[in-house]
Amino acid sequence: PGSMRALHKDYRTVTPQNFSNYESMKQDFKLEIPEYFNFAKDVLDQWTSMEKAGKKPSNPAFWWTNGNGEEVRWSFEELGSLSRKFANILTEACGLQRGDRVILLLPRIPEWWLANIACLRTGTVLIPGTTQMTQKDILYRLQSSKAKCIITNEVLAPAVDAVASKCENLHSKLIVSQSPREGWENLKEMMKHASDNHTCVKTKHNEMMAIFFTSGTSGYPKMTGHTHSSFGLGLSVNGSYKFKSLKHCVSAGEPINPEVTEQWRNRTGLDIYEGYGQTETVLICGNFKGMKIKPGSMGKPSPAFDVKILDVNGNVLPPGKEGDIGIRVRPNRPLGLFTHYIDNPTKTASTLRGNFYITGDRGYMDEDGYFWFVSRADDIILSSGYRIGPFEVESALIEHPAVAESAVVSSPDPIRGEVVKAFIVLNPDYKSHDQEQLKKEIQEHVKRNTAPYKYPRKVEFIQELPKTISGKIKRNELRKKEWETI
Ligand code: ATP
Ligand code: MG
Repeated sequence: PGSMRALHKDYRTVTPQNFSNYESMKQDFKLEIPEYFNFAKDVLDQWTSMEKAGKKPSNPAFWWTNGNGEEVRWSFEELGSLSRKFANILTEACGLQRGDRVILLLPRIPEWWLANIACLRTGTVLIPGTTQMTQKDILYRLQSSKAKCIITNEVLAPAVDAVASKCENLHSKLIVSQSPREGWENLKEMMKHASDNHTCVKTKHNEMMAIFFTSGTSGYPKMTGHTHSSFGLGLSVNGSYKFKSLKHCVSAGEPINPEVTEQWRNRTGLDIYEGYGQTETVLICGNFKGMKIKPGSMGKPSPAFDVKILDVNGNVLPPGKEGDIGIRVRPNRPLGLFTHYIDNPTKTASTLRGNFYITGDRGYMDEDGYFWFVSRADDIILSSGYRIGPFEVESALIEHPAVAESAVVSSPDPIRGEVVKAFIVLNPDYKSHDQEQLKKEIQEHVKRNTAPYKYPRKVEFIQELPKTISGKIKRNELRKKEWETI
């Protein structure tokens, strides 16, 4: 049956990418069976929420085409809304109740998939069948399944009508057709007026979901019952990455976007312990093993250093206040801090302020003593009196499905002095999209996800970002180009 094939296909495409061989796939394939499971509610509706939150590309959840070049594309939201309307038609116009059986005889038109989801939503049991059936085949299936409803088109409706009087359980007939037919409810007509307000039933994982007739090669086709957990479960387990020997993950060198940490945790089950340091130092701050991790924070100071947040005069700032990140060097220069920049006394001197070595990075400490990176001091953007760190804007940008990575820098502006400019590398799927439209969409996304004044007023799509050998983004290079042109 098509729906199952669709899921199986999904499964096959997921598997080879993520597992080096069949054996490891088999070992890692653990099914955790929930007490309740309904694909419409627990998967499709979740994907709709992700789509709404901008965490999943909106188009298409469903993309259908036929030999005449006709196309239907639905987002998850649209698929959800249409299938809820269909669900209301099943319960109201067709008078079906949970557990009632529904035979579906349609070619692969969009309504075929909607009927599948509508049955899931209403807890009715779907019995799909091929459109090649003869009157006799239809009669056998209606009688043996005791189906209460049949959904078909104008091609098969006459065959159904010819046998309907011999099927005592059949009490509702639904036709997918442009024209009305006597004795049949017309789906297309009813969809125009149906409400899309519908609450999906909460199905037990072992509740009957579908009945498939076998092919009947060796006798009469047999009815095989499948539950809600027969299909659709386990895929997410296969979408994940489990590394059996991996115990501890660290990162450093660049701020790590919360989106990355979250995805890493979701897929591997492991946290990333972020550390902060410089070539000039050893580790300055870190999330040490056993410490509570605050996502996005660099953790607490290494015991080797007295780390403080400072103002321009070298005074220590209280928790919550953003300033320069410094390390105390007087009265004693700590171990692990470099001696000086070789052959560059001016540069060495520029790093000292009062009793502190100035890292050149901006940040703040919270009430619990955790340090939070804001930006390299040079990267701060001053726009209409606001100080904007690129990291926060980049973190918002990367949450948009179109954005593979980005670099945010200042750009000259006659009124505001500086404005936020984002250089964006698009995900391959989005490269062919209308760029002006995409730009607007991304700007709106940032406005929604950070303080609106931080959104990039200028956006430029580029093939790749300039980076150091170690992979750090060279924002200064991009910034220089912006300012050179004035
Ligand atoms: P250069 O000094 O030559 O411009 P660099 O500062 O990138 O290059 P490194 O000493 O390798 O050279 O990097 C240290 C810098 O990396 C820090 O000053 C900070 O800006 C950044 N960094 C390191 N770890 C983190 C972190 N966890 N979060 C944010 N930034 C970090
Ligand atoms: Mg540096």
